[in-house]
Order: sequence, then structure tokens, then C-alpha cells
Amino acid sequence: MSNPLLDRFAPAFVRQDRLFVETEDGRRLSYGDADRLAARLANALVGLGVAPGDRVAVQVDKSPEAIVLYLACVRAGAVYLPLNTAYTLAELEYFLSDAGPALVVCRPQAEAGVRTLAARTGVPACVTLGTTADGTLMDRAAQGAPVFPPVPRGADDLAAILYTSGTTGRSKGAMLSHDNLASNAATLAREWRFTDADVLLHALPIFHTHGLFVGTNVTLLAGGSMLFLSKFDADAVFRLMPRATTMMGVPTFYVRMVDDPRLTRAATAHMRLFVSGSAPLLADTHRAFREMTGHAILERYGMTETNMNTSNPYEGDRVAGTVGLPLPDVALRVVDPETGAALPQGEIGMIEVRGPNVFKGYWRMPEKTKAEFRDDGFFVTGDLGRIDDRGYVHIVGRGKDLVISGGFNVYPKEVEGEIDAIPGVVESAVIGVPHKDFGEGVTAVVVGAKTGAPTEAEVLAVLAGRLARFKLPKRVIFVPDLPRNTMGKVQKNVLRETFADLYVG
Ligand code: AMP
Repeated sequence: MSNPLLDRFAPAFVRQDRLFVETEDGRRLSYGDADRLAARLANALVGLGVAPGDRVAVQVDKSPEAIVLYLACVRAGAVYLPLNTAYTLAELEYFLSDAGPALVVCRPQAEAGVRTLAARTGVPACVTLGTTADGTLMDRAAQGAPVFPPVPRGADDLAAILYTSGTTGRSKGAMLSHDNLASNAATLAREWRFTDADVLLHALPIFHTHGLFVGTNVTLLAGGSMLFLSKFDADAVFRLMPRATTMMGVPTFYVRMVDDPRLTRAATAHMRLFVSGSAPLLADTHRAFREMTGHAILERYGMTETNMNTSNPYEGDRVAGTVGLPLPDVALRVVDPETGAALPQGEIGMIEVRGPNVFKGYWRMPEKTKAEFRDDGFFVTGDLGRIDDRGYVHIVGRGKDLVISGGFNVYPKEVEGEIDAIPGVVESAVIGVPHKDFGEGVTAVVVGAKTGAPTEAEVLAVLAGRLARFKLPKRVIFVPDLPRNTMGKVQKNVLRETFADLYVG
């Protein structure tokens, strides 16, 4: 037996001198360093009582050691369970109770609270990991041997559980197998032409699928290097781009870069690829970036449960406003959300996917898992979209964001597209809020430019000429910014709460 995920990464570790990760303050870990540290950490995990199949919950700040801890968990046959560092102790209680980990690793400064919580939720052990290779876990690792043969695992054994961001209802643990992660990393590395010459500018968090699996696994598979930033910082990005070849970002990174006078062809001359995902990239941002740099940002689409599903092509048209074509081993279809029947090409419906990338189900939620899969194995993504005549997939929004006004379906993206095209509009979010006559009232929340922003009446006048009556917003509300989570996703649930009483109160 083998360890399918680590087997895929093994070739990278042959060149032990090659740089694996470098931090902002110049700390460098080679592949050899990472290999030995992973072995020491795996020994420490076993010493702490972690057995194959056990979950290891990790809520720590971004560091090279945190990434190596992921590799150590997989090497020990355990299941890596990263948690958003923004979660409070009260929120952590749910995750620890639900996941039942054998060990929780937390930040040194959070130890007292997490230790108490661990005792209360029946987690047997708690250690710490800081950002400068410090913490009680590192102390234990220092005592362990730098050798640890990977624990044999099957392709369907779990390598990780990632909790969904849970903007509606309870957060669910997506169970990801060795093969889910390994197959998707191999596909992406091939599609995006990653090699050991690549240096990834990594400014994403590592508790989420984008920074953890897409960024790190693709790098490990190709034997490339990563430059770690604790968060997006334009000064650091512009300083490091001459040393990097690729960047993966959420759309907000690119919005900020386009607003920066330092973004030029010369500044990006060493880069070969910019990837965007986790939230929709505005077509305007795509176009502006291309004009300023000559680079067409490559947009792709995925989710915690499925890894990556589609990508614009490396060679060929990267079409602004689309998420590209289904990846080679991914089957993607658009169906009627109610009946599940396939829709004719071009129509909007529910996106469903099937492939080796799709997760094994929700942790301890068999009913929920069953409800999200069709009998033929397709996973219901919850995203609405359509496939155009060239096969490119367009995401229209989350199914739950669909507005039903007076019995008619209104797709927010369509209305947002029209509003965003009005001069003086930066961006918009269209939501449905309770309305006494219509069930839901279409409501536009708009960010206007600092100068020249239109008024509510002007926006409505433009839209009246372009959209059917039932799609027209009942109100246009101006705000300074749209609420976003750490991955740059607009939090429509927050907007719906804020404006819940608009038509009924
Ligand atoms: P998460 O599980 O946090 O990665 O969120 C996954 C969701 O993000 C998907 O179901 C989509 O709704 C959204 N998403 C990811 N990538 C894109 C993209 N390129 N364009 C639009 N939405 C996206």
C-alpha cells in the first residue's frame, strides 16, 4: 500500500536543496527542511496520541510550519482539519464537538482558552504553533527523529476535512480523500503548465481550499516554490513580482492591483500566469488588468466540496466574465433545479458536477450528503449557471441568491451586470428582501464612484430601458462598500439582514 497524496509529491522532495517556502521576513525552508520537519512533526503527532484516521484540528496563523503540519498529518495517516483563524472560541466549540479531533493545534496566544474548550469538548490533547517556528508542537518536534515513513492509505481514505463557510445554516465538514486532492492537483498543474521553475506569490489564507489545496498542492506536485505573504499587501506584491512567476488570488487582489499606478507591463514582466477564483471577477477588472499588463487573468471555478471544476484555458481564449471550460476529468451539466432534468445548452439552471475531484460527503451528515447528490453520482453545487455555445461556463450566482419576485425568477447577476455598466458605478449586489406584495422585492445595493455616481432615479431610468419590469429593483441603495468575507465573497446574507425591513417594516 501507498500514501496516494504524498506519493504524488514525492518527486519534488528528491531535490532537497530547492526552495519550498520563503516568508516575508526572509525565512526559507527547502524541500529537504520540509521533509525532515514533516517527519519530526509526524513523530510528535503520534507521540500526542494521533492514530491513522484521527482528525487534527488546526487553527493557526499562516507560516511554512503550518503547511508542513498539513504534510505531517497526511504522513501520519491523519486527517488535516484547518480552521479559519477568525473563528471565536464560541464558534470553535462547534467545530471541536462536531469533528471530534484527537488533537487541536492553536496559536500560542490562544492556548488558555482553547485548552479549556478542548477539555470541555473531549479533545484529548492541545498544543501550540506560532509563526516563527515557535510553540509547544515545535518543541516536541525538535525531540522527534527526522524520519517517518508515510502511513499507508487508500485512495478513498480521508486526507482532510474542510468546513464550508456556512453562510446559510450550519457549517458542514467536507470530507476530502487522498485521490480527491491528488487528482485535482495533477490536473491543475498540467492545465496551468506548472513546473519546478515556478515561484508562486502566495497571499491567500491557508485554511481555505484556494490557498491550501490549489496553491500548495499544485506547487508541491510540480516541485516549485512559494513566497508567503501573511495577507495581501500591495507593497509586498509589487516588491516580489520580479521574483515570482505565478500568482493565485481572489478578485479583490486584482481590483486593488488595477487601482495601483505601479501596475504596468514592466512590473509583471517576470510573471507568466495570474489565476483568479473563489468569487466572480468583474469583466471590467479582467479588461483593465489586461490593458495595463498584457496578461489575461485566468479565471477558474471551484468550491470546498469539489476542488476545482472549470478553468479558462492556458492556451486559447480566457474569456472575461466566464469561468472557462470543465476540467478534463470533470463532467459538468446544467439542470432544472426542481426536476433535475438536463436543460438545453444555453439555458440557466443548477450546475452539477461529477469527477474524481468531488468530495466523499459531509462529515457525520449522511442525510445532508444524500440530499446533495443525484442517483447518478452528480453533486448539486448550489450554483446557477449556463454553458455558452463555445462550452464556456458562466456562473449566474448561488441558487439561494435567486430572487423570486411576484412569482418570477430574477437572476441577480443579470441585473448587476446592467447596473455595473452604468458610468459612475463601481459595483453592485442585487438581493431579494421580503416584500408584502411581491414575496421578495428586487433590491440593488450599489457602490458609486467617488465622483460622478448616479442617483437612484438615474439608475432606475437606465434599467427601465434595458430590463423587463419584473426585474427592475424596487429600490437602489448606495453604500460605501459591499460586505465581503476573507475570500472576497460578497456576503449577500449580511445585506439581506441589513435591509430585511425595507418593504415590510
Ligand atoms: P468555497 O467553498 O468557499 O470555495 O466557495 C465556493 C463558491 O464560491 C462556489 O460555489 C461559487 O459560488 C463561488 N465561486 C468560486 N469561484 C468562483 C468564480 N470564479 N466565479 C464565481 N463564483 C465563484
